[in-house]
Amino acid sequence: MRGLAVDYGANHALSSVDLTVGAGESVALLGSNGAGKTTLFGVLSGLIRPVRGTVTFAGQDLRRLSPERIVSLGIAQCPEGRRLFPQLSVEKNLRLGGYVHRKDRTAVQTETLERVCELFPAMREKLALPAGSLSGGQQQMVAIGRALMARPKLLLLDEPSLGLAPLVVQQTLDAVAAIGRAGTMVLLAEQNAYAALAIAQRGYVIQDGRIVLEGAAADLGRNDDVRRAFIGA
Ligand code: ATP
Repeated sequence: MRGLAVDYGANHALSSVDLTVGAGESVALLGSNGAGKTTLFGVLSGLIRPVRGTVTFAGQDLRRLSPERIVSLGIAQCPEGRRLFPQLSVEKNLRLGGYVHRKDRTAVQTETLERVCELFPAMREKLALPAGSLSGGQQQMVAIGRALMARPKLLLLDEPSLGLAPLVVQQTLDAVAAIGRAGTMVLLAEQNAYAALAIAQRGYVIQDGRIVLEGAAADLGRNDDVRRAFIGA
């Protein structure tokens, strides 16, 4: 993203945002409520149109593409609040994420479902259950798994640890780290800065729609402003 700006009427939600995720990178996007993280993801997913700036992925200008085209190019989003279909089974929720595959859809879905179950072994025995009957942490795994069903090159994760117990936060972010190690690029929006910086190589701090700080994850973790704003002490 270069010089990206988004307005909601008179409200400047994003101003002059420059942000890059490199091949093989996991990048943390840190910001408090209302900083602009979800808006930034909306632009990457083609749901929100910027008023200025460019957004490019693998040489393609994303600004003119539909959300479904962007998913088939390799960008999948796991939205804030999970947004599962609670009455549908876990398996159906997951298969929906693989609907983007046009060729041999059912076979590709089945093969990818197997990979998702390898990443989240506890999910295998829950496949037939309604997604809404699972715990918050398990539902978060389903939401991440659903995004992975599209076999993304870049995975967008909007606050995956929100509302989860500390132990479950760790399990969730361990899974995100494993996804990154397997070669998927990750952009991880989090208020839980300490956990996010532990698994990312680089990070950005967004405040009132502007990037106010960027750098190596280790440096951001030691930065006094970041510590005061997000980690405490
Ligand atoms: P949160 O973690 O609370 O979702 P965020 O960092 O994702 O925060 P955004 O949701 O992107 O932030 O919001 C950025 C700014 O844009 C905020 O000031 C918010 O109030 C405003 N905003 C978001 N969506 C809309 C909308 N549909 N209409 C008007 N203003 C909006």
